[in-house]
Amino acid sequence: MTFSELSNYFDKLESTSSRLTLIDILSQLFKKTPPDSIDKVIYLLQGRVAPFFAPLEMGMADKMVEQSIALAFGIQKEVVIKENGLKGDLGLVAKDLSQKYRHSNKKEDLTVVQVFDSLTQLTTISGVGSVDKKITLLKVLLEHMDPVSAKHLVRIPLGNMRLGIGDPTILDALASAKFGDKGHRKLLEGAYNRTSDLGLIGKILFEKGLDSVQKLNVTIGKPIRSELCERLPNAQKVIEKMIEVDAQFKYDGFRVQIHKNNDEITMFSRNLENMTHMFPELIEGARKQINAKTAILDTEALAFNPESEEFLPFQETTKRRRKYDIDEMAKRLPLKAFVFDILYKNSKSLIDEPLSKRIEILKETIRGDEILIVTKNQVLKDSKKLQLLLDDAITKGLEGLVVKKLESPYVAGGRNFNWVKLKRHSNGELKDTIDCVILGYIFGRGKRAEFGAGALLVGVYDNKKDEFVSVSKIGTGLTDEEWREIHKRADKIKVEHKPARINSDLIPSVWIKPEIVIEVLADEITRSPLHTAGKSNDEPGYALRFPRLVSFRSHDKKPEDATTVKELIEMFKQQGQK
Ligand code: ATP
Repeated sequence: MTFSELSNYFDKLESTSSRLTLIDILSQLFKKTPPDSIDKVIYLLQGRVAPFFAPLEMGMADKMVEQSIALAFGIQKEVVIKENGLKGDLGLVAKDLSQKYRHSNKKEDLTVVQVFDSLTQLTTISGVGSVDKKITLLKVLLEHMDPVSAKHLVRIPLGNMRLGIGDPTILDALASAKFGDKGHRKLLEGAYNRTSDLGLIGKILFEKGLDSVQKLNVTIGKPIRSELCERLPNAQKVIEKMIEVDAQFKYDGFRVQIHKNNDEITMFSRNLENMTHMFPELIEGARKQINAKTAILDTEALAFNPESEEFLPFQETTKRRRKYDIDEMAKRLPLKAFVFDILYKNSKSLIDEPLSKRIEILKETIRGDEILIVTKNQVLKDSKKLQLLLDDAITKGLEGLVVKKLESPYVAGGRNFNWVKLKRHSNGELKDTIDCVILGYIFGRGKRAEFGAGALLVGVYDNKKDEFVSVSKIGTGLTDEEWREIHKRADKIKVEHKPARINSDLIPSVWIKPEIVIEVLADEITRSPLHTAGKSNDEPGYALRFPRLVSFRSHDKKPEDATTVKELIEMFKQQGQK
């Protein structure tokens, strides 16, 4: 398959506003792709040359790409810079300039594999002269491109592919391409939850078949999709529903999945990013304290003040998610990791073992408590004792408890009543914040107009349909500074038509790609015919009453990690219960 053919598919995907059409186009693409390149096509669809968790970056900023375009088309760099100023998208600039200035002697088309290999090479170039080498490499590729291919090519190293395709949509399309319907999608999803690697799944599915995909198991170095919690309103409801639980403190830091392969340690965030380089002290702790050749641990990392021996609040801990000054920050805000689960040990997956057994193995595996600390657990059947433990957690400044079913396996990527979070709350009010995705903004009047936004249209995630559905308009709770910030971010990702994965009856002044996640507090969830969250033919949707912004969550949550419609409905049902 040539890169030019692939780019035509990219173009079709970019211009559709319908998710079903997305699946259809993708499915045609997968059928057309030679099986041994399906993995490459899938990574390229996501603007990558490897799965998300592989820390490979092409590292090209606008300036470098401008230079490559100028060299490839034999024009002044200033022309490219000016066009970029006007269009704000180097993809479009490359397309237009290629149309205008393309040499009559355009070199022959390249295959997908050739382009993929060159882009992979970009990720390995470093050191002296690397800027020039990267510019030349992209220039050479551009000399082989027709205008549409040039547009999509330059967006890849800029990290600016505009296709808006979520992982569930790719799974749907793989199932539909291979089986003609979504029948076996669940099995593909299982493999995805264990390996987080869609490229690998696609390739194995088309080269070897479904049986081999099902055999894909937990692998050291590939993050397992995290198990998440459901909510229940109070201790009594927990015991009624779960009978007996393993209760653990809920630490408010960030989730770190630690992989140990002999001396090699890798760490992943909850949204599957590789964070290994950020936490040198955890690497050291893992090497020293994990008594196994290979292991995967599920942990929550928190900043710790060695002087006062206090755990610090989330706002402090989160300062450790950074790319620079890592060693200095590791000294200022050293982390401890509370280990609450073990998913793999000495070449054996443990995810199908019951929690009680995993905890037993975990306790045997961690030596000491210098940096990695095994989370204390208590098995309880009495709601009064559970309430006492919750009070104790709150008094200690923690978020609350996570209670877990003793016999449950580790359900990768699952959110169900195997794990339930219990937080502090006041009666009747919503007990938890809601993570929303910004779908667009509505122009403001008067003073607000200066900042370009009067209200945000926000949505939640429908994970069954891989769609973002509207749930609220938010106009309060934002300072002028925050409006400016949102405006700045939103402008970079605004799009001309409704993105295919957004489903909303309300039409904002400007649509943006569903990427920015915000945490929202509301007084209540109500039914509303205006919003599409949870709406069906004869039932109204759900909406937020008095919503206000609490924080930006884009650093640790992908749009697909936003609150789901299912969770929203659960929260609606639990409202008002003590
Ligand atoms: P929140 O914003 O309330 O943390 P969330 O959507 O990020 O919600 P939840 O599923 O609600 O995630 O809560 C689970 C999170 O709590 C885990 O992702 C993990 O980071 C954290 N956590 C802290 N302590 C524990 C524990 N003992 N067991 C499991 N998760 C824990």
